Amino acid sequence: MKSKLSILVLFVLAGVLALVNPVKGESNNISNIELVELGDIDDQVLFDLRERLEKLFGISVSIITHMPDTDYAYDGNRNQYDSMAILSKMPKPDDKNLKIVGITDHDLYAPGRKFVFGENDAAKGVCVISLARLHQSYYGFPEDRALFLERALKEVAHEVGHLIGLSYSPEADNVMHPYENIEEIDCINNYYCIDKK
Ligand SMILES: [Zn+2]
Repeated sequence: MKSKLSILVLFVLAGVLALVNPVKGESNNISNIELVELGDIDDQVLFDLRERLEKLFGISVSIITHMPDTDYAYDGNRNQYDSMAILSKMPKPDDKNLKIVGITDHDLYAPGRKFVFGENDAAKGVCVISLARLHQSYYGFPEDRALFLERALKEVAHEVGHLIGLSYSPEADNVMHPYENIEEIDCINNYYCIDKK
């Protein structure tokens, strides 16, 4: 009786652990993140973001600068950029454990959405995030650099999460929550752990 109970406890515990750390299997390995500057981004923002990502994930993050801007994705009627068009033009990583993250200052949209903070193509291993709506000044408040960088880190972690096969979390404070506004991004304080290659 006692041993049956402990087996049950083990099963429940294994289930809980699988939920806590759902990053498993070879396809989910990650060895490196490449931040790709689309257009002209403040260099210091890229450096600070790299530092935070390396600290969070414990993997190396490189920066590719001066990639052409995304004029081809501009929609004049919306005054926004088509995230899908950007993803389709981004190069596919030659190593499946490398994930590529495009960074743009432009406001992005996706089909059926007024705007998106970011978008991904998990099969290709690429994603793009927009910094446009992460500034406090966008909402009429004085700029807050630390908060801005924290939001950018959350966006990158969320999209990279999709690239390594994570699904959405129902928990509002989890970085894989399907956030839809800046208040929801600011609620996040839980990140996932990743398996490194
Ligand atoms: Zn998402």
